[in-house]
Parts: sequence; C-alpha cells; structure tokens
Amino acid sequence: MKVVVVGAGYAGMLAANRIAKKVRDAEITVVNPRPDFVERVRLHQQIAGTASVVAPLASMLRPGITVRVATVEKVGDGHVGLAGGETLDFDHAFLAVGSTVRPMAGTVPVGTWEGAEQARAELGTLPAGSAVTVVGGGATGIETAAEVAEARPDLRVRIIGPSVADGFSDRARTKARAGLERLGVEVVDDAVTEVTDGVVRLRSGAAAASDLTLWAIVADVPDLAARSGLTVDARGRALVDECLRSVDDGRIFVVGDCAAVPGARFACALAGPQAAHAADTLVRLIGGREPEPYAPRYVARAVTLGRKGAVAQFTRSDDTLRRSCLTGRTAVVIKELASRGGKYGARTGTGG
Ligand SMILES: Cc1cc2nc3c(=O)[nH]c(=O)nc-3n(C[C@H](O)[C@H](O)[C@H](O)COP(=O)(O)OP(=O)(O)OC[C@H]3O[C@@H](n4cnc5c(N)ncnc54)[C@H](O)[C@@H]3O)c2cc1C
Repeated sequence: MKVVVVGAGYAGMLAANRIAKKVRDAEITVVNPRPDFVERVRLHQQIAGTASVVAPLASMLRPGITVRVATVEKVGDGHVGLAGGETLDFDHAFLAVGSTVRPMAGTVPVGTWEGAEQARAELGTLPAGSAVTVVGGGATGIETAAEVAEARPDLRVRIIGPSVADGFSDRARTKARAGLERLGVEVVDDAVTEVTDGVVRLRSGAAAASDLTLWAIVADVPDLAARSGLTVDARGRALVDECLRSVDDGRIFVVGDCAAVPGARFACALAGPQAAHAADTLVRLIGGREPEPYAPRYVARAVTLGRKGAVAQFTRSDDTLRRSCLTGRTAVVIKELASRGGKYGARTGTGG
C-alpha cells in the first residue's frame, strides 16, 4: 500500500511515523520542500537567536520511510505531482501543508522558516537604539515581541494590534501585557495600515519610524488544495468529512492547519491529534472496521514572555476561556512541555 504524506510539519511527521508503526506493508513517502523538520512553534526563538529549531527529517522518521525533498504542485486522482513534472502514485495521501503568511509590503514575516531566517539576519545588523515593530497582537506577535526584547534589550521594541492579547481572559490579558511591558515592549492598540520607507502608519492616523517591521499574523493556508481542485473554505482550507477525509476524494486525508475542521484554529496542539486520528482511521479501514469521527479538543492557550515568563490560559474543550490562568515558573514549564510534546509526538507518532 502506497502512502504519500505532503508536508513534514507536526501533522505530516506524526501521520507518517504512526502509519509506519501500525501498517507493516505500507510504503510511505514524505514530501517536503526542505530536508529538515522545522519546529514552527519556536520560530520566534529562531529570530531572537535563543534556540535552533531545525532537525534533519531523517532523524525524525522511522526507518523505511522515504523522504523526497520537493514541492508538491498538485494532489488528486491517485497521484501527487511534484514541481519539475515527476509524479508519485498513492493509495492514500495525507495533505499536511500547514498554514502560511501574506505579509504586508515593507514587513518581514515571522510565521515561516524563510521569513524567520530573514528576520534573524536583519535583526543581527540593527545597531543599539533601533526600533523594531511587531505587527499582530495574537500569540505569535506577543511571543516574538517578548523574545526579541529580552534577547536585545538595546532595541526599542513595540507590538501593535487592534487589541493586543485579546485572545485571553481579562486576567490573563492583563498579565500578558504587563509581562511585555516589564521587558520594555511598548504595547499599542491600533491597526497598521501601511509600512513604507521605514515608517509604520496606523489607522488612528499616528505614524512611527521602524527599522525592522515583523509581520506576526498567520491567517492563510497554501493554495495547494484549491489548485488541486479540492473544495476549500474561504481561507483555502480543504473541506473534510468527520473522519478528516477530503469531501472530494476519500483517499486523501487532510490534517493540521490546512484542514477545514469546524471549530479548529491554527494550532500545533490540534495538528498532532488530527494526524493521529486520521492515521488511526486508515488503520481501521484497512482492518475492515468503522472509522470514528474526529472533534477538536482544547485544554489551554499559552504564550511565552521571553525565556523566564509565560501566561497559560486554561480553556474548556471547545476553546472557550476559563477564568483560571497561570503565570511565572509553572506557566513557563507548561509551555515548554507543550512545545517539546509537539516535536516528540511528531517524531514518535504518538498523541491524539
Ligand atoms: C511563532 C509561532 C508560535 C506558535 N506557537 C504555537 C503554540 O504555542 N501552540 C500551538 O498549538 N501552535 C502554535 N503555533 C502554530 C503551529 O506552529 C501550527 O499550527 C503548526 O505548525 C501546524 O502544523 P502543521 O503540521 O499543520 O503545519 P506546519 O508545521 O506548518 O508544516 C507544514 C509543512 O508542509 C510543508 N509544505 C508546505 N507547502 C508544501 C508543498 N506544496 N509541498 C510539500 N510540502 C509543503 C511546509 O514546508 C512544512 O514543512 C505557532 C506558530 C508560530 C509561527
């Protein structure tokens, strides 16, 4: 049985390793544009130079899994088309290409490996006193602003979003903003409308000079599913049935950020469990058993505030906020364990 996994992020790696473990005669090929697994939840650390976030794919995959370093251009009709014209046949495919960024002109995105590398390089050239602007008041923006401010206290760092940290309860929000301010980050509640010639312009009419402007908004997915003729939602995520199969082709499982799962947001915390569920569905089908439906389950939202601070906001399983949150050392440990757990699950095929 031929299985092709498209994308070697948290979801793709976990799916490949889990199938290799559970299906003895599976011929598994993982296709990814880079030969490394990128620990995407640590890209802000890559930018600030506080962690190395790549691991060779070979070190993360079970023996016998084939790696193809290539970009997939089309999936469908039992074939995966690679850039350059080659095709790979499959009995089952896993579409796991994650999410991507559409940065505003004049900014450098932090949500992709290439963007993070560019940001790291540009940050390294900034002299003391330079201004760094982080656009986006969600988790990615908060973690990036805090990490950069802690690693480079000689810079002036600001974070701008319509309502910074509004994904938290009032208590957690206050703590996240206070943590940013403790690190010297200026918190600005406003929307960026334009970045030109080193000037950031805001909806309120204000403007500020910025030597490096980082785009910390991740709101899109690659257009592979749409380009392949699969039915997608308004954001380009492939529509799936309750067992995470494309509604157009039951041989294609769609997992992680690129899957249009009702109630799901972009999260490593969902990508792993979705991949585990889809891999187990394949195992069930091979064994002639009925597949089970998948539903996202949440536990918490957590952000780091540099290496020594964090806020962990607990949620109900449907992602609505609980009142309780943790800060300090306990929150730091929770967040670190969650980040390590994502990579561990990808490498071992465990989770779900
Ligand atoms: C700075 C930052 C911090 C984050 N922190 C958290 C957090 O604390 N908790 C949390 O739950 N989530 C967090 N996230 C979100 C999390 O990283 C994503 O939700 C997660 O990576 C999604 O996993 P995935 O496997 O779907 O996609 P990805 O990890 O993005 O992997 C997709 C893979 O597919 C590859 N690919 C793309 N297009 C193609 C193609 N055409 N052909 C072949 N391969 C392709 C990509 O190169 C990549 O290797 C964070 C994100 C960022 C940017």
